[in-house]
Amino acid sequence: MIDKLDYKRCTICQVCINICPKNCITLDSFKDGFNYPVIDKNICIDCKACEKTCPVLNPLNSRESLKQCYAGMNTNEEERVKSSSGGVFSTLAKYIMNNNGVVCGAAFDKEFQVNHILIENENELIKLRGSKYIQSNTKDVFNKVKKQLTTGKTVLFSGCPCQVGGLKKYLGKEYENLYTIDFICHGIPSQNIFNKYLEILEKKYKSKVVQFFFRDKSKGWHTSSIKAKFENGKEYTKFITDDMYMRGYFGNIYLKSACYNCEFRNFKSESDITLGDFWGAEVEEKEIDDNKGLCAVVVNTSKGVILKNNINDSNIFKAVDYNKILKYNKALEISFKYSTKRNDFLKLVRTEDYNNIFKKLCKEKNTHKFVRVMRYKLGKIKQFILKIESRRIDRI
Ligand SMILES: Cc1cc2nc3c(=O)[nH]c(=O)nc-3n(C[C@H](O)[C@H](O)[C@H](O)COP(=O)(O)OP(=O)(O)OC[C@H]3O[C@@H](n4cnc5c(N)ncnc54)[C@H](O)[C@@H]3O)c2cc1C
Repeated sequence: MIDKLDYKRCTICQVCINICPKNCITLDSFKDGFNYPVIDKNICIDCKACEKTCPVLNPLNSRESLKQCYAGMNTNEEERVKSSSGGVFSTLAKYIMNNNGVVCGAAFDKEFQVNHILIENENELIKLRGSKYIQSNTKDVFNKVKKQLTTGKTVLFSGCPCQVGGLKKYLGKEYENLYTIDFICHGIPSQNIFNKYLEILEKKYKSKVVQFFFRDKSKGWHTSSIKAKFENGKEYTKFITDDMYMRGYFGNIYLKSACYNCEFRNFKSESDITLGDFWGAEVEEKEIDDNKGLCAVVVNTSKGVILKNNINDSNIFKAVDYNKILKYNKALEISFKYSTKRNDFLKLVRTEDYNNIFKKLCKEKNTHKFVRVMRYKLGKIKQFILKIESRRIDRI
C-alpha cells in the first residue's frame, strides 16, 4: 500500500501499479477480503510516482456535470435483453469500434475472474456486455489505454467511477480521442467472496460452472435473475434479491471499504456519460417501459453530447428530469452506510465457512420479498396487456 493512504480509502484502481517505473507494486496485501497494492521496499527507488498519481491522494478538479438526462434503450431488442439494463453501452461500444477505435471494459475469463480488457472487434463485445458485481482487475490496462491514445486510436473506457477517475489521473491530461463512461455504482464486492460463492454452487450441483449471468432477464428486467449453467447440464436460477451472494451485496455486507465513502460518485470521476438502470421506470416512464430494460443516461460533458448524438439512431432516447433518476437511485450521489452486519461479516470470516456466513447474514427481508413478488406479478400483467394491445393494433 502507498504508505500515506489508508487501505480503507484505497479503491484498488491500480494506477500506482501502472505508473511504477520499477514494477515493484503488487496486489499482495489481503484485507477485509480484498487484495490491496503493496510496495516491495527492496526494489522501490522512492520516486513517489505512486503517491503523486494516486487519485485519492490527489483528487481530480472535476467540472460540474451538464446533467442532460435521458431514459435510453437500444433499438436492437436482442442486444438489450442480453444487457443489464437498456443496452446503451453496446451501442456506444459498436459506434467506437465501427470507427476504428478500441473499447476497454470488464470481462469474465474462463475461471470467472473479472479483468479489464481491450477489444476492437464487435464479436468480442459479448465479453464486456452485462454487469459483473465483482471488483475488476485493471492490471496494466491504463498503460495499454495510453499506448492506444498516443498512436491516435479512439478509446472508449468504461468502468466504475473510481476506475474512470483513476484513468484520468494516470493520463494527467485531456486526450481528444478518449471517451469515458462510468456507472451509477452501488459499490463492489471482492473476487475472493465471489469465488467462495461459486465454490458453494459447484459443490451443491456437483459440477463446474460454465456460464454465469448476473442479470438474466428471462423473468423480466424488473425482476432480473442470477443464472448459472453447469457442465453437467444443470441450471441454477434465482431472483437477484433472493440469491445469497446478491443479498449480501444489496445488504452492503461485503463491499470494498472505500465504497462506503466513495470519493468518485456524484460526478467526481470526470466521465463523459454516466449509465445506470432506470429504476422506477414502471412508475415514472410507464409508456416506454416494457420490462426488457431501460437505461438511465446522464450526459456530463460536451464530449458526452457528441458521443450520445452519434448513437441516436441505434437508441430511443427520451429526455427526463435528473430528479426522476435520482429518486430511485440514490447511489448516484450517496454511498451506502457501513452496516453492523458488515462488522459481523468481518468477524465471522475468521472462524466460519462461507456457506454458514451466507445463511446467517444474507437473508432476504420480508419487505424486499413482498416488493419482488409484486413487481414480478405486475410485470406479467403489463406484458399481457401489451401483447393484447399489439395484436389489436396488428388487426387495425
Ligand atoms: C459493480 C456495478 C454496480 C452497479 N450499480 C448500479 C446501481 O447501483 N444502480 C444502477 O442504476 N446501475 C448500477 N450499475 C450499472 C448497471 O448495472 C448497468 O451496467 C448500466 O445500466 C449499463 O447497462 P447497459 O445495459 O447499457 O450495459 P451492459 O452491457 O449491461 O454493461 C456493460 C458494461 O459494464 C461494465 N462492467 C461490468 N462489470 C463491471 C465491473 N465489475 N467493473 C467495472 N465495469 C464493469 C462493462 O465493462 C461494460 O462497459 C452497476 C454496474 C456495476 C458494474
